[in-house]
Amino acid sequence: MQKIGVFGGTFDPIHYGHIELARCMRDTLQLDCVRLIPTGLPPHRAPSRISPQQRFDWVKAAIANEKGLVADNREVVRDGYCYTIDTLIELQQDTLAALLVWLIGADSWLSLNRWHRWRELLDIGHLLIAARPDYALEGLSADLSAEFRNRSVIANTETLSRGKISLLSSPLMPVSSTKVREMLARGEDVSALTPVFDQIKASGLYRF
Ligand code: ATP
Repeated sequence: MQKIGVFGGTFDPIHYGHIELARCMRDTLQLDCVRLIPTGLPPHRAPSRISPQQRFDWVKAAIANEKGLVADNREVVRDGYCYTIDTLIELQQDTLAALLVWLIGADSWLSLNRWHRWRELLDIGHLLIAARPDYALEGLSADLSAEFRNRSVIANTETLSRGKISLLSSPLMPVSSTKVREMLARGEDVSALTPVFDQIKASGLYRF
């Protein structure tokens, strides 16, 4: 069965933490590809000052030489709000026989019960959760804890399955787009945090 990794995010901008997570899921679970899907209009936060197309272009440039990592612009070109549920359903319809393996960080997992149609989301593919510094999974709400108890399996190529949840065995990476934006606003060099520092600098965006 084809196994398609799905990694959505604002990517405002993309950083090495994102890339490392995409590589990690691709390699540890032998996925055929990982689709990085920048948000268009995000439902849960104020829209970024950087346009969806610009964030997508940087994602594309950042992973241009990464085997199996694909920049997907479906949310960028969609009109109106973008919900993850719509994106996953659309992807599943595009590739009916494939298993979708989608990834979120621990911060997203802790608030997943506020996402649109979140319980249905859990039924569509296999969810991977990546640990993140400062986001302890002990603070999980009762409804998410129950879902995790019922659905969790150790992630490996044998256990990947629709409706399951696993922790991805990934390194803890203390990097965020917030940190990158703050450093850029101060005119600092972020080439250690993102592969697209030169393009960002040349764009003059983020008030560099
Ligand atoms: P911001 O600081 O603007 O909130 P971010 O660094 O969290 O941005 P997003 O594009 O919002 O980046 O993240 C996309 C997904 O990647 C989310 O599910 C988030 O939890 C996860 N993620 C991002 N950075 C990390 C990291 N360093 N470790 C684990 N997960 C991460």
